[in-house]
Amino acid sequence: MTFSRPFRSLFILALSVSTFAIIANAQIKPGRDPNQPIDQEYTNKIREYTTAPYFNSPLTDYLPASTDIPTPKAVLGDVAGAPGKLPYAEDVYKYMRMLERASPRVKVFSIGTTEEGREMIAVAIGSEQLISKIEENRARLTKLADPRTINMDEAAADALVNASFPVYYITGTIHSTETGSPTALMELAYRLVVDNSPYVKSIRDSVLTLITPVVEVDGRNRMVDVYNWHLAHPNQNWPGLIYWGHYVAHDNNRDAIGLSLKLTRNVMNTYLSWKPQVLHDLHESVPYLYDNTIGDGPYNAWVDPILTDEWQMIGWNNVSEMTKFGMPGVFAHGNFDTWSPGYLMFIAATHNGISRLYETFGNAGADTVERTLSPGEYQRTWYRQNPPLPKAKWSQRNNNNYQQTALLTSLYYFGNNSKLFLKNFYLKSKRSIDKPKQEGPAAYVLPGDDPRPGNQAELLRTLQAQGVELSKATAPFTVSLRKKASSGAPARSSSSPSASPTPAPKTEDRTFPAGSYIVRMDQPYSRIADALLDYQYWAPNDPQTDIYDDTAWTMGELGNVEVVRVVDAKVLTAPMDRVTGEVRSPGGIANAGAVYVINHNADNALVTLRYRLKDVEMEAAEERFEAAGRKFNRGSFIVRKANVEDLRRVANELGIQVYAVADAPSVKTHPLRAPRIAMMHTWLSTQDEGWYRIGLDQLQVPFAYISTQDVSREPNLKSKYDVILFAPVGRGAQAIINGLPMYSNPLPWKKTQLTPNLGAIDETDDMRPGLGWNGLQNLQKFVKDGGLFITVDDTSDFAVNYGFTAGVSVNRSQRLRAVGAILRTKSVDAASPIAYGYGDSLAMYCMNGPIFNINNGVGGRGGRPAPRATGRGTPDDPDVPQGRTPAEIPEPPPRVEPWEAPPVMDEQLRNAVGLIPPNQRPRVVLRYADSRDLFVSGLLDGGDEIAQRAAIIDVPSGNGHVLLFSTNPFWRGQTKGSYFLVFNAILNWDNLNAGRKLAEK
Ligand SMILES: [Zn+2]
Repeated sequence: MTFSRPFRSLFILALSVSTFAIIANAQIKPGRDPNQPIDQEYTNKIREYTTAPYFNSPLTDYLPASTDIPTPKAVLGDVAGAPGKLPYAEDVYKYMRMLERASPRVKVFSIGTTEEGREMIAVAIGSEQLISKIEENRARLTKLADPRTINMDEAAADALVNASFPVYYITGTIHSTETGSPTALMELAYRLVVDNSPYVKSIRDSVLTLITPVVEVDGRNRMVDVYNWHLAHPNQNWPGLIYWGHYVAHDNNRDAIGLSLKLTRNVMNTYLSWKPQVLHDLHESVPYLYDNTIGDGPYNAWVDPILTDEWQMIGWNNVSEMTKFGMPGVFAHGNFDTWSPGYLMFIAATHNGISRLYETFGNAGADTVERTLSPGEYQRTWYRQNPPLPKAKWSQRNNNNYQQTALLTSLYYFGNNSKLFLKNFYLKSKRSIDKPKQEGPAAYVLPGDDPRPGNQAELLRTLQAQGVELSKATAPFTVSLRKKASSGAPARSSSSPSASPTPAPKTEDRTFPAGSYIVRMDQPYSRIADALLDYQYWAPNDPQTDIYDDTAWTMGELGNVEVVRVVDAKVLTAPMDRVTGEVRSPGGIANAGAVYVINHNADNALVTLRYRLKDVEMEAAEERFEAAGRKFNRGSFIVRKANVEDLRRVANELGIQVYAVADAPSVKTHPLRAPRIAMMHTWLSTQDEGWYRIGLDQLQVPFAYISTQDVSREPNLKSKYDVILFAPVGRGAQAIINGLPMYSNPLPWKKTQLTPNLGAIDETDDMRPGLGWNGLQNLQKFVKDGGLFITVDDTSDFAVNYGFTAGVSVNRSQRLRAVGAILRTKSVDAASPIAYGYGDSLAMYCMNGPIFNINNGVGGRGGRPAPRATGRGTPDDPDVPQGRTPAEIPEPPPRVEPWEAPPVMDEQLRNAVGLIPPNQRPRVVLRYADSRDLFVSGLLDGGDEIAQRAAIIDVPSGNGHVLLFSTNPFWRGQTKGSYFLVFNAILNWDNLNAGRKLAEK
């Protein structure tokens, strides 16, 4: 558009700088600057490796030339996305640092290390101007991120917005089998530095792009090893990537709740310090580009609606621009529901930024191959009008083209609208602070008298790592609370939670003691605290039936720590101080005396104490007792002889309160030992057991790490181990025995010159063999010899079905849907050492766990007695045969609960071949709650199928025990409240019969 001179200057004056930029940039055509020479050789290779012209775009079908900036070829020896080229993380970093040396537009930051000590980096790219102002811009973004610092002043915010440029943070290859993003990000970095086309220049001048090219560094290097092995053995099958990171595989993208992994902590810290407006995570499991930022419902219920609008804006722009480029298969809806906050990108969603995620199409390596899609992938749907092709030759270069093109269109759009998104960033932060005045709640309170101060501190430290501010009450305070329904959970008439409106809640006052922790909701990061501490409700009739992940994560319940949601704004006026430094529970030795007692409260630090002082003799009290003027729970530790300074130091460090007394309490005890533990893994999957290893490592519980193959070779397991822990595998019982099919070549997993990153965790010459029948026999002998075998979920199914557990059988569920839900369990036998330190009820994570039946005979199925037969009278009447005097009806057998075995009848005793002796019968420790109390959080449907069934069973066998879990006590670093069920079993492994009442017959 053209104006006469005076009119134009007036017009420009009337526009803000940003509006002008939008008008100016709207005329920019994507594509190369004809005046800038291209790197012809590199460009030729791009075209050669792209399998069809429509798999590329005007943004990436050339590479601009530079005389002084090296291209990715300098490190790769070929172009990004070239067949056969998969760089290690170190090579990617080497290239990024070459760029940094060659250009003032690049700065590389080290952001931490992985579990195995490998570096993680973030690469900042922008114009010289932007790079030189990183720190002053950071100071402005920090103010926008915390509007309290400018007194929520709109004019001040606008001035900051006008002066600032946004930060767009891109993270690559968190999923190690999704291999394309490192080379795509190397080339993207080069383009952002070198390309003088108006399109890329506009990005460079308006957005600071921050790139972590490899998120899962340990897993990346292992994946490159496997790929190189494949290249060296062209006609063979290659080993699957059994280990990604040191602990977990795909679940590394489910850690933004518990923050157990270093990669999550490093990205979180980078996010908190850079204050980016976007965190954009790259994945490669859907053809050809699923911008699943928008995804599908239900959306997370705690994020700001401004954010979900932003998802739509950026996502649809993305699809629209790439559609115009003629690239097939770009879409923005799909089967990803946006409910769980556990994904890495959700760090932004829950901290006032914008979360984004791409799924592009990768070949899990750098081979160019013909890919045939399934109808579900290539059919046209309402949201995918230009679907992927049913069949296409696909290359890593194609993938790199899609990744870069999509990122460039997003960066361009973001840069064009940078003021809008910066203002939104401010508004979302402000609305987070306004939470108590708007939707509420006002705060969450963690009472100062929680019986588990150690686990409470652990939960609070996780919130601190999320950037949440905490306060601590300096005096008691009283607030009004919504009155709870009886029995801790809302009463329900059916097994499934109902959505019927409840009458207006009544309120009651509650006084919290001084020392209570207050998580105020008038802070910028209130949303993450609210999301993590609140309860989740997923309606059984939700139209989303393809549930993507866990439906519940309520941290207080899973941590076995009380968390009170307070709507009453009076809580914000309670006398309190901001907490500085990490929350620690108080520890030390109180009083004086030669004997030391420690209350068993199921705080996880107790197991650390036991192993730290492993040579000190300790005992467990089998009954409650009083000492030092206090009440002690069953299982409390009694130490008759210890070096007091050692004990004091460890108790201080671990936050454990020890009481010294003159004499040991007169209570029955047994030795509390620190036994030898083995974690047994398969070569099928190590995903879920990784969460066990990280839990044990964090609490410094030593263990040997053995595979099913080791067990198959060791007939005398008991000589080496006291406890074998077999975490869920997720492959079924037969696969545990059989392993992988033996048809083709051996699949080695070991450190060699070709594969230097394999084998450090465990190794084998051939991943295929499973436990086998020898291994099964060895395991059964281990138990008979006195060992403890702990199984969970599908490994419990394995133990039941392969004859470890006389008297227990498993039902197949028909209707149950407990999808990553939290369910209530109830204590059945509080005298069992496994229950030490726990109360009457415990919320536990459940993923459609096995439904157990209990019987006193081998092969019995348990269950309820048959109802009366057809005949005369009402259901309660006896039937009466006609034509004779009525027979005397024997006393009916006593009522049997679903978690109990039917009583032994005299008829069974006549020739009691299958009758299990009373001391070898299954002992139920916890059961699922009654239907009406079962639901705690998430999705529960058809719950009556599992209600009241045994949840945790201690099954004696020979001299040993098998412990069966239907729930999962170690899950994603979130279930810290149930860890101690396993630790109790471990510490009391040779005295699990303590407190047991035996049946008479
Ligand atoms: Zn992925």
